Formats: sequence, structure tokens, C-alpha cells
Amino acid sequence: MKQIIGIDIDDVLAANAEGFVKFSNERWDMHLRPEDYKEHWAEVWKVDLKEFERRAIELHDSGVIATYRHNDAALPVLQELKQSYTLLAMTSRQLVSEQLTRHWMEKHYKGIFDDIKFTGIFDGPLDLSLHLRTKSDLFTEHKVTYVIDDQLKHCLAAAELGIDTLLFSNYTWNQTDEALPEKVVRVSDWQAVLEYFRAQ
Ligand SMILES: [Mg+2]
Repeated sequence: MKQIIGIDIDDVLAANAEGFVKFSNERWDMHLRPEDYKEHWAEVWKVDLKEFERRAIELHDSGVIATYRHNDAALPVLQELKQSYTLLAMTSRQLVSEQLTRHWMEKHYKGIFDDIKFTGIFDGPLDLSLHLRTKSDLFTEHKVTYVIDDQLKHCLAAAELGIDTLLFSNYTWNQTDEALPEKVVRVSDWQAVLEYFRAQ
């Protein structure tokens, strides 16, 4: 059986931060830059829980995620990795976005992923600590051997489970002053992902 790589979608395969700030700037007259992005949307928008909820629904209902740019550099790397590994996409996107997400993935990464797994983190009642939750249940359930994700918290959670983890890119939101655990390696881009796996 092939080993499994769990691969995040937003800001690994899809230009989520860029799309999110563009939508927010146009819709709510803000002046955000992609570097201002955090998974804690309420903090980016500087709004309370009620307004966060309202805006999150509006953003999801708009279908804007269907327009997010894909990462051109990912496809050839994924095609090579697919020869040796089973690839699963793992996302915290809300289930209301499932159809759009599946369609988008099929459009840009056709035939690459065995499936897309949703954490459901943001599907229950929203509260202001949800952004602290991780994908660890998905990692365990699907027995992943490797994780590629741009959110430090998911990488740290994976490392806790003994999973070899690639912290994707150098984003403002995934910096830390602390040394990364041995199981977490930062990769600058998709070429670095390829080099990592070629060395395995
Ligand atoms: Mg992400």
C-alpha cells in the first residue's frame, strides 16, 4: 500500500489569502493585503462574533472561492508524487463549500487526489476559538505519513503524532520565533516539496 500524503488546499494549492482580502476589500471597503491574512477571520476583519458569522456566511454564499487562483507550480510536482504516494486533500473549509471545492479541485488538479477530506472545524456553532483547532483527527483517521500545510498549528499537531510534516512557504502567518520540531521542515515552494520527497 502506498504511503499517504495529506495536503492542505488553502494557500498551498489555492491562493486563498489573496482571494480573501480582495473579496473583503471590495465588499467591506477594507484595505487589507494578503500579508494581513490569518485563519482567525474575525481578527482580520476586526469584528465581533456576530459580524464574523454574518460575513463568513456572505463570503461562502458568494462563491468567491471558485475564482481563487491555483498554484501553477503544484501540478507537475503532484503528478510526480502521485506515482509513489496516495494523495489526499485535507481542508478546514466549511462543508457549504464542498461542491465548489470539489469542482475547483477537479478543474485545476484533475485526477491527482484520491479524495478531499473536510475537518468540519468551522461547521458547528462558530466561536472565537475555533481557529485554534487542528486537523489532527483527520491525520489519525486517514493514517497519513506526511503532511503539507501552511498553518503552523496543523504542522505542530502532525509532528506531535509522529508525522513528517512540511510547513509550506514563508507566509506572514506561519512565522515563529521558536525552533521548529524535528518532524517539521519548512519548504519554500513546490519545487522544495519535490526535492524533499526525492530525497526520501
Ligand atoms: Mg492552508
